[in-house]
Amino acid sequence: MTPPIYDRVALIGLGLIASSMAHAMKQFGLAGEIVGYAKTEETRRTAVEIGICDRVFATAGEAVQGADLVVLAVPVGAMAEIAADIGPHLSQGACVTDVGSVKQAVIEAVAPHIPEGVAFVPAHPLAGTEHSGPRSGFATLFQNRWCLLTPTEKSTPDATTRLRRLWEAMGSNVDEMDAPHHDLVLAVVSHTPHLIAYTMVGVADHLRRVSNSEVIKYSASGFRDFTRIAASDPTMWRDVFLTNKEATLDILGRFTEELFTLQRAIRMGDGDELHAYFTRTRAIRRSIIEAGQDTAAPDFGRAVPAKKPSE
Ligand code: NAP
Repeated sequence: MTPPIYDRVALIGLGLIASSMAHAMKQFGLAGEIVGYAKTEETRRTAVEIGICDRVFATAGEAVQGADLVVLAVPVGAMAEIAADIGPHLSQGACVTDVGSVKQAVIEAVAPHIPEGVAFVPAHPLAGTEHSGPRSGFATLFQNRWCLLTPTEKSTPDATTRLRRLWEAMGSNVDEMDAPHHDLVLAVVSHTPHLIAYTMVGVADHLRRVSNSEVIKYSASGFRDFTRIAASDPTMWRDVFLTNKEATLDILGRFTEELFTLQRAIRMGDGDELHAYFTRTRAIRRSIIEAGQDTAAPDFGRAVPAKKPSE
């Protein structure tokens, strides 16, 4: 059997992403030992109980001592405080990474606390579900998903290569880019779509209250898919919008312009414009399937839940 990539991995934050990493690292033998820290006693206890951590600590500082990889897997808004806590306790030669959904703000929050002799290699796995907490993780979350590394001046080539090996061993495809580019790309493919989903579900909720219509009962695939995205963790997404402000506002501005174009086409009865637009967007869906990032199965391959006896 090949030796583990890291002797001791310290997971700071023990939610969906950290627990999925723990399951994958254990399944593929990638870490000699996994230790952890989370804010609440309950999460720390659960982490040991379900076996994602061999040991947990009451402070982040204690958890990182002796670790050769430290993974910051807390909400983006908590990164600065955690980095300040762990800075003095990091071991020489260690690598600190994070999994935050925004990169520039995390680098600004974390880099000042990284001492000489410690590498910092930011990362972002483009994988997730709408569930949170230590029990929501699973080993295959990162399979065939992208993980983007955004190296900084505190990243050494050795530390970056080793971290890349870890993500590849957990099933990810790995790419490198600079942090501003990452934040713009993510504003297009993830952050703004989430905001739109939150808004659409908000509109439907408002409508339901106002007209007592049957939005929930008859929710078909379009609305239902929005509700899945809009069920994502409120803390995480609040922090994403507060920290990727400029790129999100840029993309939202472009979105609004496109929306006005379609609104005008509908008002003017311009079927050709609508048809051409939807033909272009359909081709994008096809290319996502061809790239292996979703399935072509109808309704995204989900089964319809069994009927409730009362229905
Ligand atoms: P999660 O399931 O909500 O878990 C968050 C963890 O962070 C919990 O263990 C929580 O501890 C801990 N935590 C929160 N505030 C803390 C603080 N101030 N100090 C110490 N621990 C704290 O979150 P997640 O979905 O794994 O997300 C973690 C990170 O990954 C975020 O930065 C997010 O942007 C990024 N990310 C998420 C996704 C996704 O789809 N979910 C995808 C890619 C990247 P308690 O349980 O004790 O409160």
